[in-house]
Amino acid sequence: MNQLENKVSVVTGGNSGIGYASAKKLKKQGATVIITGRNTAKVQKAADELGVTGIVADVTDLKAVERAVDQVKNEFGNVDILFVNAGIFQPAPVGQITEEMFDHQMGINFKGAVFTIEKFLPILNDGASIINLASVNAYAGMSNTAVYAASKAALNSYTRIAATELAPRNIRINSVNPGPVSTPIFGKTGMSEEQIDGFAEAMLNRIPLNRFGEPEDIAELVSFLASDKASFITGGEYNIDGGVNINPL
Ligand code: NAD
Repeated sequence: MNQLENKVSVVTGGNSGIGYASAKKLKKQGATVIITGRNTAKVQKAADELGVTGIVADVTDLKAVERAVDQVKNEFGNVDILFVNAGIFQPAPVGQITEEMFDHQMGINFKGAVFTIEKFLPILNDGASIINLASVNAYAGMSNTAVYAASKAALNSYTRIAATELAPRNIRINSVNPGPVSTPIFGKTGMSEEQIDGFAEAMLNRIPLNRFGEPEDIAELVSFLASDKASFITGGEYNIDGGVNINPL
């Protein structure tokens, strides 16, 4: 079903994990898709595989984001779907939180998200849908994730306030809160394989549906929120977490 026909969509961090699966789903439903990411080779490879356009733009580099906006405007016109997905996960116990790690994580997960929206806003069509990728971790307390959780909680607060301000243009904005999802994100934390396995086992024990999510699970919700079927939905947070929110991590 081509429920996203004639819609132009941008997916930040679209070369991996949830962003990749969502870009694939949006394209399958008829949208024109542009993915962004940091690494030229990885963005190009993913764009080729998906048959979409890839643009290199680090979300912490506001000039690069502005260039991406210009390129999208010139090649595709205005945007209907903005999936603010790019993010990182850097666990650290309280007492070992460094300023560098704080700035890096907040800089990508929160500041990067806010300024992606700021920069794309002038080329968003009235009636557009913005989807922010937060996390159930924003409130389902899990040890060693205080800064990550705060970066996602900040994004959820932003979503609620922005929804009111964007409503006069009929622009909807919602947050998606996944539980643990099988993606490469955990391999980028600096943890050893052994630590990741232990971490994964501890998380699995707390997921009532007894499995990690797959990127495709999240893509389903993203494509729904992106579509006109969700035309009365704004300012919300949607858990998609196998029940973690009722059984906190
Ligand atoms: P991933 O590592 O597979 O993908 C992350 C993407 O973000 C990559 O494409 C990466 O290149 C991009 N990215 C990172 N920093 C960037 C930057 N500075 N500029 C541009 N792009 C950047 O991980 P994922 O699990 O698919 O993560 C996607 C989002 O989902 C993140 O925001 C993450 O916090 C969130 N999330 C993930 C899980 C999970 O368990 N995997 C759970 C809840 C929320």
